[in-house]
Amino acid sequence: METETLLDHDIATVFKSQQCKALLLKKSAAQERIARLIKLKEVVTANVDRITEALYNDYKKPKEEAYETEAVIVEIDFINAFLETWMKPEIVTTPEALGGEASVSKIILEPKGVCLFLTPCNYPFLLTLRPLIACLAAGNTIIIKPSELTPHSSKLIKEIIESVFPKDEVFVIEGGVEVATELLDLPFNHIFYTGGTRVGKIVMKAAANHLASVTLELGGKSPSIIDDSADFADAAEKIVYTKFFNCGQTCITTDYILVSEDRKDEFVAHLKGTIQHMYGVDGPGIESPKYARLVNSNHYRRVKNLLDEALENGAKLVTGGKTNDSENYISPTLLDDVTPDLAIMKEEIFGPLLPVVSYKTLDDAIDFINCGERPLGLYVYSKDKNATEKIISSTTAGGSVVNHTMMHYMSPFLPFGGVGNSGIGRGHGYFGFKDFSNQRPVLEM
Ligand code: NAD
Repeated sequence: METETLLDHDIATVFKSQQCKALLLKKSAAQERIARLIKLKEVVTANVDRITEALYNDYKKPKEEAYETEAVIVEIDFINAFLETWMKPEIVTTPEALGGEASVSKIILEPKGVCLFLTPCNYPFLLTLRPLIACLAAGNTIIIKPSELTPHSSKLIKEIIESVFPKDEVFVIEGGVEVATELLDLPFNHIFYTGGTRVGKIVMKAAANHLASVTLELGGKSPSIIDDSADFADAAEKIVYTKFFNCGQTCITTDYILVSEDRKDEFVAHLKGTIQHMYGVDGPGIESPKYARLVNSNHYRRVKNLLDEALENGAKLVTGGKTNDSENYISPTLLDDVTPDLAIMKEEIFGPLLPVVSYKTLDDAIDFINCGERPLGLYVYSKDKNATEKIISSTTAGGSVVNHTMMHYMSPFLPFGGVGNSGIGRGHGYFGFKDFSNQRPVLEM
């Protein structure tokens, strides 16, 4: 007798119904897809306060940082404005050998079919709903498994989705690794995964069994490079704000800083002053409602171990370093004299630790980056156009911003994603729509 699994019946039935519905949605007009997205926008807008509450309940994410829905609304409005145009077949030139002007060559973007979403614990609403918009706009059906580490958010995501979509269009199943593993056995047409690189490899292997296409939004070590010409006060302010937002749990934030040996002390002083100005000399404190916590005790221990190992092996604590086990609390922490052999420089930090590494020349900084895995984000702070151009053209990254960190994520006109170890595929706006579509050529002779 075959062993029954927790996904038998329910999910198998939903999956089959989504396969049937996908054939219908494939033919849906832009206006029908737009109407669904407008409904989603209405429900999300009506639930902003509950979303804020769920995020606080999950990891004490402060209400000042809980604006996850704004980028979702912007994405819906942006995609709705262009969808009709994007869905039109693109007519391209036909070579003379294939009939020239007597033939028609066109490219149709058709939906991939049934898609699986495995989504992460940081920004649970944003990182589930924003990609969902492009996936729906492309005409797909979707099964979503949100993160088990943020149960209040996952429950509300399920409620929001159920109030907008029938099960055979979008379905949310809660659960952890076991559920994700069983879902990965199903013959999805496309898998959209956001999370760590290690699990990304598991997802890609599972996708290979059914030859499903994948979008992998992964992590990595994203540097901010401070060129000597940079405005140090401005750079420190932008880096500190984006680093400690969400308690450092942002995939595209600065993982570490590279600054020249000669100007390092000056820049560290700027960083220290900015951190203490924003969070107080002793940090926000374990009672603070204005600073998030690490999402669970495993992530807390992982980050604390990185801190302890760095301090035991020569790194200098400039400010921060306060921890509390029962609260999963680590205060915004700045570390100087960090060397490349430390674990903190080998693993993605994904927490509120900011290590500073010095370089002798810009070429050394570039070599250092190029010796590691390709980063998700690479940020350059400089007023020197030649230095900026040199850094950008000599390195590869998922995305870059000059004189700020992670702001490229906010633009629906720019593609978003990683490269190599930091990810595969592109999202946002038209790029997301295309990623969730099959580019089908049709030649009429
Ligand atoms: P995670 O990999 O632990 O979990 C992500 C999802 O994968 C969850 O739904 C989880 O249940 C599922 N999962 C976990 N283990 C699995 C397994 N063995 N098999 C199948 N599914 C499994 O990631 P996380 O801790 O939630 O998020 C942190 C990581 O995500 C960081 O590395 C961060 O950089 C990355 N991230 C990347 C982006 C991006 O856009 N590139 C965005 C957010 C987070």
